[in-house]
Amino acid sequence: MIEPTALFALDTLLTEEEREIRTTVRRVCDREIRPHVADWFEAGELPARELARTLGSVGVLGMHLEGYGCAGMGAVSYGLACLELEGADSGLRSLVSVQGSLAMYAIWKYGSEEQKQEWLPAMAAGERIGCFGLTEPDFGSDPAGMRTTAKREGTDWVLNGTKMWITNGSVSDVAVVWARTDDGIRGFLVPAGTPGFTASDIKHKISLRASVTSELVLDGVRLPAEAMLPEARGLRGPLGCLNEARFGIVFGAMGAALDCLQTAIAYAGEREVFAKPLSSFQLTQEKLADMALELGKGLLLAVHLGRLKEAGTLTPEQVSVGKLNNVREALEIARKCRTLLGASGITLEYPVIRHSVNLESVLTYEGTSEIHSLVVGKALTGVAAFK
Ligand SMILES: Cc1cc2nc3c(=O)[nH]c(=O)nc-3n(C[C@H](O)[C@H](O)[C@H](O)COP(=O)(O)OP(=O)(O)OC[C@H]3O[C@@H](n4cnc5c(N)ncnc54)[C@H](O)[C@@H]3O)c2cc1C
Repeated sequence: MIEPTALFALDTLLTEEEREIRTTVRRVCDREIRPHVADWFEAGELPARELARTLGSVGVLGMHLEGYGCAGMGAVSYGLACLELEGADSGLRSLVSVQGSLAMYAIWKYGSEEQKQEWLPAMAAGERIGCFGLTEPDFGSDPAGMRTTAKREGTDWVLNGTKMWITNGSVSDVAVVWARTDDGIRGFLVPAGTPGFTASDIKHKISLRASVTSELVLDGVRLPAEAMLPEARGLRGPLGCLNEARFGIVFGAMGAALDCLQTAIAYAGEREVFAKPLSSFQLTQEKLADMALELGKGLLLAVHLGRLKEAGTLTPEQVSVGKLNNVREALEIARKCRTLLGASGITLEYPVIRHSVNLESVLTYEGTSEIHSLVVGKALTGVAAFK
């Protein structure tokens, strides 16, 4: 027997340091997350503060950023951390993606020196949590239509509006909020507890239950001039952050798929049907082989995109290729693994159905699969078909 990733000799593409980082994150997941995550999922609760401190202590929060207490690791190392985290649960990877690639990246890339000093070291350590408010109830795929406004009153800014589906929202110490100004879309840092700012959790989710998802309401939130991110102008600001987070998903989705496939292989080896192991049937082996092929191709694509990112040549279209392919295939793998587990596959005793329903959210957030198809379509034809 051979591990699915070994079929593709994946490790030969990784440096020793990258393999060590993967092992470190895997150990944290095995010790701190995997034993509890099904219970968190079932309860719809996540001990986000404790987890943030644990994840901060091993350096995965903002790990691909330089300075300000961040680890300054390469893109493939960051991707492998996402892979291991999402192998435990997409909700955990979401916590880390939003903290590092959306909230911290926005401050790191577009913030003033004072904003960076104030927030980044504490966020890298997991002592403070951030969220990223772009989506609104009526504007998800088309954020250019956003209604949240920021208006000047003297030197202050006053924000009004609602942000929806915001990961980490109610547990955040700071929200990066994107709002329309007379000067186009700008980003603002809104500390928790600012009068007029509330975050309430969205209940009754069937997907990403081990993740905090909130609605943010900004009702006359008054902020000083220094709360604006000085270097972000227009939609390019938030879209630059989303590109970072999507890159992590290219690896992360394959982590969920690998966990499903490993579970299904083990199950098929033990489960007897018609007096023979399930794994000995040709139909089973065809399913396993097909899944291993898609998993391996997805991982090779992820590492390739990671190397392009490290070389500074990765384009947004290439990130769309990776997100579209890998999340779609991970979801297919999760569904196919679920069939191999039969009725047992619908329980939380095994991780497969949890990954499967989580991946439904991953298919939709950070740009839906349809939007990424349109990005690739535009790249191929030169014609934008969004409207
Ligand atoms: C669990 C979870 C966590 C999230 N976390 C965050 C977060 O932290 N911060 C944040 O800002 N947002 C977050 N989101 C929001 C997410 O980014 C949006 O849900 C996503 O962008 C899609 O927007 P929508 O849900 O409004 O769907 P819509 O934009 O209304 O899309 C509905 C359907 O229409 C399709 N569609 C849209 N436009 C086109 C088109 N031009 N052509 C063809 N089809 C089209 C879509 O692909 C989709 O199938 C989160 C979402 C979820 C589910």
